Amino acid sequence: SLKTKTAVVTGSTSGIGLAIARAFAAEGANVVINGFGKADDIEAARSAIEAEYGVRAHYSNADMSKPAEIETMINEADKAFGSVDVLVNNAGIQFVSAIEEFPAEKWEQIVAINLSSAFYAMKAVIPGMKARGWGRIINTASAHSLVASPFKSAYVAAKHGIAGLTKTAALELATHKITVNCISPGYVWTPLVEAQIPDTMRVRGLTKEQVINDVMLKGQPTKEFVTVDQVAALAVFLCSDGASQMTGANLSMDGGWTAQ
Ligand code: NAD
Repeated sequence: SLKTKTAVVTGSTSGIGLAIARAFAAEGANVVINGFGKADDIEAARSAIEAEYGVRAHYSNADMSKPAEIETMINEADKAFGSVDVLVNNAGIQFVSAIEEFPAEKWEQIVAINLSSAFYAMKAVIPGMKARGWGRIINTASAHSLVASPFKSAYVAAKHGIAGLTKTAALELATHKITVNCISPGYVWTPLVEAQIPDTMRVRGLTKEQVINDVMLKGQPTKEFVTVDQVAALAVFLCSDGASQMTGANLSMDGGWTAQ
């Protein structure tokens, strides 16, 4: 159980992050959700967590590309709840282009949001975790932390970076009862993925089944999407006593993608 614990989950107004925040709340944790979106939708997600699980949920609008806002988010969480015991660095964006046409500002933005934000958030939470002698840091990496795909240079570089940062932090914190791991999903069924289907059907002249099996799940041997709840279940396990000797690991949940 995560009762008496506080979890900050970045990029949790939708998709994987929201599922993780909800799963932590179901375990009794107070949570801070973060990310962008329509104010009404965010408030609905926040209040639903409080109503369904009887915990407190705060929202931070911190922009993960801005180090000062990341520090403020952690300080505010600490002030509101008394500690930050679990940090999930999950915010992430994608951009697809050949390197020679890849806009420099997109590269900088992806490296800032998908990689550097985890460094700044860790920097802010580690002193408190050390003082309390307990902590869990979970980074949402990707199959792209282990293998590459063309035209995703910034994303693949940032995710490989997250895998390295995870290992380094795990070693630094190994004797402090603070574990640091990353989760590497393959294709996860999220609203974002679902929304890409009609466009891909039109552009490539394919049926929905063809888009799913021959394009999206081409490299995923199970031919099934990972679900956000499956990723969240792994995050909950990583916070349990059973996972206290797991640190520095890069845990794949990719339907066999990276076994090939
Ligand atoms: P999503 O778009 O549903 O969620 C991304 C979240 O990050 C949203 O809450 C968004 O508002 C937030 N965000 C974006 N920019 C931000 C910023 N500057 N500051 C703060 N928040 C910001 O996508 P998702 O699929 O749930 O992705 C979550 C994580 O999982 C990402 O790191 C992504 O790379 C990773 N991932 C996703 C898949 C997949 O197939 N969906 C696979 C592997 C890894």
